[in-house]
Amino acid sequence: MHGERSALEVFRQDLYHCADCNYCVDAVWAERGIEHVCATITHHSPALSYSGRGYIAAARALLEGQALNLEVLAERAFSCTGCGNCESICPIGLRPAQVGQALREMLAAQDHLPAPLAALRTRVREQGNVYGAPAAARSAWATGLEFTAGPLATLQYAPGCATAHARPAEARAAVRLFQLAGERVGYSPADDACCGAPLREAGLPQDAAYAEQTLAGRLRAPLLVTSGLECAPAWQRGVTAERVLTFPQWLLQALLDARLQLIPRATRPSVVHVFDSCASRRPGDLRAAVDPTRAILQHLAQTVENSAMAASHGVCCGAAGSLATLHPAAAARMGATRRGAATVPVVAGDVRCLTHLAGSAGEGGEQLFGLAEFLLHYFEVEGRAT
Ligand code: SF4
Ligand code: SF4
Repeated sequence: MHGERSALEVFRQDLYHCADCNYCVDAVWAERGIEHVCATITHHSPALSYSGRGYIAAARALLEGQALNLEVLAERAFSCTGCGNCESICPIGLRPAQVGQALREMLAAQDHLPAPLAALRTRVREQGNVYGAPAAARSAWATGLEFTAGPLATLQYAPGCATAHARPAEARAAVRLFQLAGERVGYSPADDACCGAPLREAGLPQDAAYAEQTLAGRLRAPLLVTSGLECAPAWQRGVTAERVLTFPQWLLQALLDARLQLIPRATRPSVVHVFDSCASRRPGDLRAAVDPTRAILQHLAQTVENSAMAASHGVCCGAAGSLATLHPAAAARMGATRRGAATVPVVAGDVRCLTHLAGSAGEGGEQLFGLAEFLLHYFEVEGRAT
């Protein structure tokens, strides 16, 4: 109990300044594209105890020594996607998403980890991926591709679990773009495994730190590029932020440096829909003034139908955090709702979102593209290596 309190003590200001305004639960603000806030509240349960406000109330109760049913609290806390929407909308700058994360870590440390998440931990420990696929299957996407060995590589590619196992075409397209830009790409199947990001999201920082350090210790190239937007912070913890880029970040830089030129084909769609990820607003993650996927499309004069303002408060698609593991049906509803009825090609810079959407897309799934796939499909690419 003492440990619980000290972990929550860090958030004392947040716990006692919450005004119970409910913005983080059900705010609606049409001009800003805000149509409710919390995916879990909207698609899993409307009970306040599943919200950022609910996590703050529970943490305050624990801090004051009240006895709570920790099994019930765990079901609530692990049903959060960790999207950070509650935190970005709180009018007085409180940190409800981080309080939820602290609760998850406290509950996991005290053996209140829900069974589906304990199984996730076992899959990552034993197979090195979140899906429980055989470890050897992870590199199937790379069959037939040529890589540069060891220290001669200028860039090491880490596809991330979702890209490697569920979107091999995006991984192959990314490697093609790297090589066209003149990069010598390193990829070692023996060194590629889950970076630990899903474990950290699931409240297991020690398992996550082990994975981060193990992989980082094997990095030989000066730069690591990952297609997993959730993976980049894990790699940055293992090495240094300067040595890690997401694929959209790398690509934007390559275009600005004129290492790649993209010429539209006649088949290029006149309009696309950008599927914005909550990776850019999750606490401590990839906060950036301009989302690189949108910046790339702007650089290419590609018209985008949906505004970035609305996207910055879009409700999570259900791919992030521990919710999809705990409540897959609710996560599928989130995905189907977020995708909506877009009639133009959808471009996603975050491959974890993309694979989740593809799983819940039904008809029209062929209109979903990863960023690299989209560019190779609709543009002629010239670079230093052509
Ligand atoms: S982080 Fe996202 S899912 Fe979790 S409570 Fe906040 S808004 Fe809801
Ligand atoms: S955490 Fe912020 S947005 Fe949520 S109820 Fe408290 S003050 Fe309002």
